[in-house]
Amino acid sequence: MKKDILSVVLVAVMLLSCGCGAEQNAAEAEQTSQGAQNAAVITATPAPTIAPTPVPTPTPKPNYLIDSTFSVVCDDYVNMRADASSQSTLVREVTNGEQVELLSFVERYAQVKVLSTGETGYIIGGFLKPDTDVLGLSAVSAPFGVTEAVPFNYTYDQMLMDIDELLVAYPDKLTVESAGQSVEGRELKVLVLGDMNAKHHVFVQGAIHAREHMTALLCMALAEHWLADGIPNPSVCFHILPMANPDGVTLNQTLQFNKAIQEIYLNDGSTGRSVLTGAEYLSEWKANIRGVDLNRNFDAIWDRVKTCPAPSFSDYRGESIESEPETKALVEYTKKYDFDATVSYHATGSMIYWEFGPNSPVNEASYSLAEAVAAISAYKLEDDDGSSFGGYKDWASYKMNIPSITIEIGTRAAPLLENEFYNVWLRNRELLTTVAHWVEANAV
Ligand SMILES: [Zn+2]
Repeated sequence: MKKDILSVVLVAVMLLSCGCGAEQNAAEAEQTSQGAQNAAVITATPAPTIAPTPVPTPTPKPNYLIDSTFSVVCDDYVNMRADASSQSTLVREVTNGEQVELLSFVERYAQVKVLSTGETGYIIGGFLKPDTDVLGLSAVSAPFGVTEAVPFNYTYDQMLMDIDELLVAYPDKLTVESAGQSVEGRELKVLVLGDMNAKHHVFVQGAIHAREHMTALLCMALAEHWLADGIPNPSVCFHILPMANPDGVTLNQTLQFNKAIQEIYLNDGSTGRSVLTGAEYLSEWKANIRGVDLNRNFDAIWDRVKTCPAPSFSDYRGESIESEPETKALVEYTKKYDFDATVSYHATGSMIYWEFGPNSPVNEASYSLAEAVAAISAYKLEDDDGSSFGGYKDWASYKMNIPSITIEIGTRAAPLLENEFYNVWLRNRELLTTVAHWVEANAV
């Protein structure tokens, strides 16, 4: 089904290109024929034979380009710049509600053409909303319909309800497992798409950082997209853990202090780690409910993790490697299946991390996977700057020899606003297809 759609799109693109070419050739032919008639009157010599104009090879349209115009959704206006950089010349301000055509994505930016004036330039990609519903989701509660830039909370409970809907809709294609439990006892649900006995297995996880919970919605949307397409690559079984840190996500979304969190807040305040008010502080929360940054808690040169000395809203590595149940659950689940690749979703920066500096044995393969994903998402490939250790991706590649990447989806700071989801979706919706093709071609 997916392939059929892709074929149709490709053929349409080719037809479009051929059509343009044909029109151009016809125009040339008309001119030539007039020239030939004139020549016939004056000199009576035969018209010269014109070599046919070669039809250019059509460039495949990036699959994030869709048949829809877009509206800018922001508070007041956004800056449109000459290049994809905040340092670049200001072309104009684009006001809330103005319609644009999307031309391309470049890292955090969308290249657009303002419909009313024809001006082109670059705006931050997270301000664009398609004018038609392109999400195509029925079970997963995605936010299509917003007209304002407002926070969006995809909750753990909503995720459970959406998983139930998917189970009803796709009973033969979806299995749901638990990888373990969080500190507060929430099940770490894993959606297993397709055949457990498939040749290849791939792990995708989101929301290990609490404030990056839009990645959980993205994971769920990817699962529905793949199921609705009928598991296009049955040799690849995807295991999707949308919310690796459900307690932290819930704290971030509800902004409700308990006694232990209050103590962490006061300690962060007294040590100068945070000067934020209570609600602001919780909206910045990345850690699990015990104040441990789960993505600093894995056995990947943990000794060198830049850590603070005590539980905090972010960057505390924990008392020991795998001290947290969520970390342990991810480790055990990863060891249980012989994964051919892992993808970790994070939210800040529109980039893909592929490298684990200290000679991870699979760096080359991870780079190849990252390149494939960059081709569909227009995210920037980012080298390891040697300052980050103890993450899931680091451990999966360094200790488990699994090609692994981290994808940062957002164009602005987390928690991402609701209007951010459209560019996120367009740039990631073919993630599973892309990874499946990569695994089929590269997994040993
Ligand atoms: Zn993160």
